[in-house]
Amino acid sequence: MRKKIVAGNWKMNVGLMEGMALADSINKSLIEKPYDEITVVLCAPFTHLTSLYEILKNGKISVGAQNCASEPSGAFTGEVSASMVKSTGAKYVIIGHSERRAHHREYNSLLNEKVFLALESGLKVIFCCGEILTERAENRYFEVLRRQVERGLFNLTKKQISNIIIAYEPVWAIGSDLSATSGQVQEIHAFIRELITEKYGVETGNNISILYGGSCNPSNAVKIFSKPDVDGGLVGRASLKAEDFIGIIEAV
Ligand code: PEP
Repeated sequence: MRKKIVAGNWKMNVGLMEGMALADSINKSLIEKPYDEITVVLCAPFTHLTSLYEILKNGKISVGAQNCASEPSGAFTGEVSASMVKSTGAKYVIIGHSERRAHHREYNSLLNEKVFLALESGLKVIFCCGEILTERAENRYFEVLRRQVERGLFNLTKKQISNIIIAYEPVWAIGSDLSATSGQVQEIHAFIRELITEKYGVETGNNISILYGGSCNPSNAVKIFSKPDVDGGLVGRASLKAEDFIGIIEAV
């Protein structure tokens, strides 16, 4: 049985104290709820990871980073390596978020290097893929997604891929008011699962968790998460309000 996962991506929001109060409130609400089979992750800025781990280590929520360096160590001023992320207590790292692809020109082969370093450091990777609006309008989205998944992941071994979670995040649905429809999401998730199955076999294809991200909120989540190939969500804005984030976990 594959895992249901809800990961919050705080992006470059919330200062340290505000972030700890938010995490504490999500943690407290979750302790009272019977959702032990759902993996909940909060992906915070690097500066928050250690404190977040301290607050969450005895609860039900894991900590994740939003990025890591493409080099293991050395003279890379301002960078944070995968092993440094791991040393904070974090268990997860997001790699390939569309904002990093777009604003930091992170291309597929660079992301693949990050994936390897993260896995080598013992982190689980939330690997993001997704098409931009023109690629969807021109019906090129299958081709784009195939390229992102193949180039980002397909030189991993079967064992390594078991520590990958894929997040399908259509770029046009992120930070907008336009989430993809549940039908669009299911179509792409089934396609991604098929790609993984073709490469790694039926068992791996069945076991990999594929999350949806893009303007998820407690009301649209129920329909999207009811689809058979949707195993949870990567949540941006709604993870900044404890009530909304819990509402999404409830939908899963
Ligand atoms: C995201 O950026 O990963 C995301 C899903 O953002 P939002 O939920 O705000 O669209």
